[in-house]
Amino acid sequence: MAYVITDSCTKDNLCVEACPVSCIHPMEDAPNYAEVPQLYIHPTECIDCGACVPVCPTNSIYVLEELPEDKAEYAEINANYFA
Ligand code: SF4
Ligand code: SF4
Repeated sequence: MAYVITDSCTKDNLCVEACPVSCIHPMEDAPNYAEVPQLYIHPTECIDCGACVPVCPTNSIYVLEELPEDKAEYAEINANYFA
C-alpha cells in the first residue's frame, strides 16, 4: 500500500531519520535535493510501518487509504518521482 507525502512537506528530513528502510527521497546529499518541492515515499519499498507519521510536524504523511480527497493526486505524484 505505502504511505504518501503531500505538499505541506517542508523538507526538514525528520521522516527520513525515522524511516527504517530509507525509502523516503531524495536524500539530502542527492544532486536534485534543492530542486524538489517536497520529499516522496517509494511506493513499493515502504513497509507500511507508520514510523514517519508521528515525527512529521506538518502532518504531511498519510497512509494511502486515508489520503484526503483533495490530496488524492499525491499517491501518483509520490510514485512518479521514482518512475
Ligand atoms: S517529516 Fe514531514 S515535513 Fe519533514 S520532510 Fe518528512 S514529510 Fe516533510
Ligand atoms: S511508513 Fe515506515 S517504511 Fe514507509 S515511509 Fe514511513 S517510515 Fe518509511
